[in-house]
Amino acid sequence: MSYEAPLKEMKFVLNELVDMNEVAQLPGCEDATPDLVDAILTEANKVAVDVLAPLRHSGDIEGSHLKDGKVVTPNGFAEAYKLFSESGWMSINQPAEFGGQGLPYLVDCAVSEMWHSANMAFTLCPLLTNGAVEAIYAHGTDALKQIYLENMVSGKWTGTMNLTEPQAGTDLSAIRAKATPEGDHYIIQGQKIFITWGDHEMAENIVHLVLARLPDAPAGVKGISLFLVPKYLVNEDGSLGERNDAHAISLEHKMGIHASPTCVMSFGGNGKDKDGAIGYLVGEENNGLACMFTMMNLARLAVGMEGVGLSEGAYQIAVEYAKERKQGYASGHEGKVAIIEHADVRRMLMQMRALTEASRAIGYMAASAHDKAHHEVEEEVRKAQQKRVDLLIPIVKGWCTEIAQEVTSLGVQVHGGMGFIEETGIAQYMRDARITTIYEGTTGIQAGDLIGRKTLKDKGEGLLALIGELQQFEETLKAQSGEDFEIIATRFSASLKAVTDSARWVLEKGMETPHSAGAASVNFMMLMGTALGGWMMAKGAVAAKRELDAGSSDDFYKMKVSTARFYAENIMPRTQSYAVAVQTGAGTMMDIPAENF
Ligand SMILES: Cc1cc2nc3c(=O)[nH]c(=O)nc-3n(C[C@H](O)[C@H](O)[C@H](O)COP(=O)(O)OP(=O)(O)OC[C@H]3O[C@@H](n4cnc5c(N)ncnc54)[C@H](O)[C@@H]3O)c2cc1C
Repeated sequence: MSYEAPLKEMKFVLNELVDMNEVAQLPGCEDATPDLVDAILTEANKVAVDVLAPLRHSGDIEGSHLKDGKVVTPNGFAEAYKLFSESGWMSINQPAEFGGQGLPYLVDCAVSEMWHSANMAFTLCPLLTNGAVEAIYAHGTDALKQIYLENMVSGKWTGTMNLTEPQAGTDLSAIRAKATPEGDHYIIQGQKIFITWGDHEMAENIVHLVLARLPDAPAGVKGISLFLVPKYLVNEDGSLGERNDAHAISLEHKMGIHASPTCVMSFGGNGKDKDGAIGYLVGEENNGLACMFTMMNLARLAVGMEGVGLSEGAYQIAVEYAKERKQGYASGHEGKVAIIEHADVRRMLMQMRALTEASRAIGYMAASAHDKAHHEVEEEVRKAQQKRVDLLIPIVKGWCTEIAQEVTSLGVQVHGGMGFIEETGIAQYMRDARITTIYEGTTGIQAGDLIGRKTLKDKGEGLLALIGELQQFEETLKAQSGEDFEIIATRFSASLKAVTDSARWVLEKGMETPHSAGAASVNFMMLMGTALGGWMMAKGAVAAKRELDAGSSDDFYKMKVSTARFYAENIMPRTQSYAVAVQTGAGTMMDIPAENF
């Protein structure tokens, strides 16, 4: 059940595929020298291996629970959190003016992949805190920033995201929580469900970002405002004051991430004289959803990286088991063999490896675009990069987490019956992964965002720019020599055709009937993820071949070419079936009356 970060692979992706060096030259990113990035990755690996991974299984068994109104986290979590935050791991990408390290998000993204592999339930706490910092930094008043950000950046205080209510899940227009103005603040009343790390004792204070409605707010999403609601009120001198009326009243029993307390939060209604929690407006009244999207966008990228981290963890366990477990005979071997010698087990391991590498590269690619969108000098370039990251976010969130379902499930399959037994640890990866396609917007919602806002509303501008880059790369690929590249190039061209045909269909026919785009959306998102994954794998093969041609005999580079070829042969053909499904239309689904189901 051990985990070790694939440092060589991570550095290869950073340097060869997603322009780490270019990002490090951008104004404001200069501190990210190759030596520093190297040191950060090495040290992060130690924390992942020595501190977080050992708590993964025990945290799953023990879980968090509510006792006397307080959330009790599993043994070791509070100590791990103390070490984690005091060592500065919360603040890699956070603004220097509030004590953060101000390093590129790309570095944070690679590091957080390790945390997710090692212990996703734990990592949700810093993940949400970082998102809350981002939202307050972007939309909070100077006073709010001064009071809250430094302690959140250091990890002394943590953050949460309070959107969901029983009747308002995907559909946030149904939010009922109320905010009533009172002097310089608001009184927040209502109940939120499914709030991740909504309460705990690991940090001194918790800063809730809560969506609620003002008394005269317009109906629907245009009447939602965002409020900062601290667990403990903060005195003028910065010390902690009275307990605010924001309490976890129960914890959910879940399929996975048992150590992460998923709370029902009650704002008000806790038997106090003065009913309701004190909150402060973040951003403008009735513009809360837009402000919350600042947090949700980064959180969506981060959840995509959860998928990558879980896939990597599952792959590592599966390889370890496949090398140990002896069953049957295989050609070319005397006596019983380890199951890794069976072709079908190899198929599963290669599928896991190829999909994990592809999803990592797509996640890092989006992080790189995010940094460029923030730090490039030219405004036009920044805008183009923002368009790119906007297009990639639903793909990273949607595809990388769907891939994690496939990869973690294959991990169980590699283990045979022991995969179904908890003590091997692989089942936990599969259970933990299951939530990643649901929270922060389900796969259906990501796919709808990709095809709707990011493609149709954009009139295909961002998508066509991306396709242009794929077309350029097709030429690079065709110029490579050798059988491996002949195959990779052929499959790449076929998948590019699937993408261009489908993009044309979406832009021309996506609005033809009310359901055309909705019916096509998930297949379109899966098509894009698979094709972009193939692009990154092929790009990696070209870079690896360069090293091999220059005389390197490193197996790492040979594996990069083999894995890219495996992806081209075994995964890329999926693009054709996705393309057919995209261009099929909604008839078979929507012409049937609901009562026939
Ligand atoms: C463990 C866990 C942790 C969570 N953490 C948080 C948190 O910290 N903060 C927070 O606010 N929330 C949190 N959530 C809530 C989570 O974000 C929601 O569960 C999620 O957004 C889906 O909403 P829902 O459960 O109401 O499902 P529903 O909205 O009821 O969706 C059910 C199904 O219908 C589909 N569907 C719904 N509407 C549409 C549509 N318009 N188009 C196409 N398909 C649609 C969905 O894709 C889904 O398949 C958490 C949930 C869980 C389980």
